[in-house]
Amino acid sequence: KANRKFHPEPTVVQVGSAKVGGGNFSVIAGPCSVESEAQIVSVAESVKAAGAAMLRGGAFKPRTSPYSFQGLEAEGLDLLLEAKAITGLPIVSEIMSPKLCQVFEEKVDVVQIGARNMQNFDLLKEVGHMSKPVLLKRGLSSTYEEWIMSAEYILAGGNPNVILCERGIRTFETYTRNTLDVSAIPCIKRMSHLPVIVDPSHSGGASWLVESLALAAIAAGADGVIVEVHNDPKHALCDGAQSLTPEQFGSLMGKMGGMVDLM
Ligand code: PEP
Ligand code: MN
Repeated sequence: KANRKFHPEPTVVQVGSAKVGGGNFSVIAGPCSVESEAQIVSVAESVKAAGAAMLRGGAFKPRTSPYSFQGLEAEGLDLLLEAKAITGLPIVSEIMSPKLCQVFEEKVDVVQIGARNMQNFDLLKEVGHMSKPVLLKRGLSSTYEEWIMSAEYILAGGNPNVILCERGIRTFETYTRNTLDVSAIPCIKRMSHLPVIVDPSHSGGASWLVESLALAAIAAGADGVIVEVHNDPKHALCDGAQSLTPEQFGSLMGKMGGMVDLM
């Protein structure tokens, strides 16, 4: 079902008035994690003003250490809904467990599956039964075939709305957090009809790298980007080093708008 051979037309995933794929470029922006009402509303208003099409924010966080901030969990989803009510931006948030499908079905507009869960087959099967679009990140060390097969689980479950997200892979290089695999964009488009977006924030792991990686993604034909933005990156509870300030995000939007029509 994910194979381009049997489905030559590009899939366009519609989220509210935004479209991803088939020549439509969408920008998703927001903090790594929802931290408070004031924080998420402030970031949502800033990214909306800069022209983002959707708001991202983690409520359930897959942290390497169990002692790191794990997210506001259910309360985080409710704060995202408040930010949506104020700005009108659809919300994107990561699901970590099949037990949460019902609450995500009710509250979230796009269900994100993180890199660490790309091959959580129980989770893939369950989101395959949801009516909400799924943003499927590439696993840290997954091949294109493995990534597309994970999308296949979701499509096979009856959910046709999958957006693939290249977020950098593990290589021998340690200077950057991950290595953005720019080749993934043309290769996945050759193999599949599904839209492909890029996460320049987790790819580089540094705010100063985000612009170069986002513009490279556009040059390579990506259908969108997902960018971490924080009102106070120095004090962010997660991923502050790679988060843009609202001002930096505004400047990035200007440069991306010079290369592609933004939704
Ligand atoms: C995130 O988007 O905040 C995240 C945890 O990303 P990834 O799964 O790509 O590491
Ligand atoms: Mn993050």
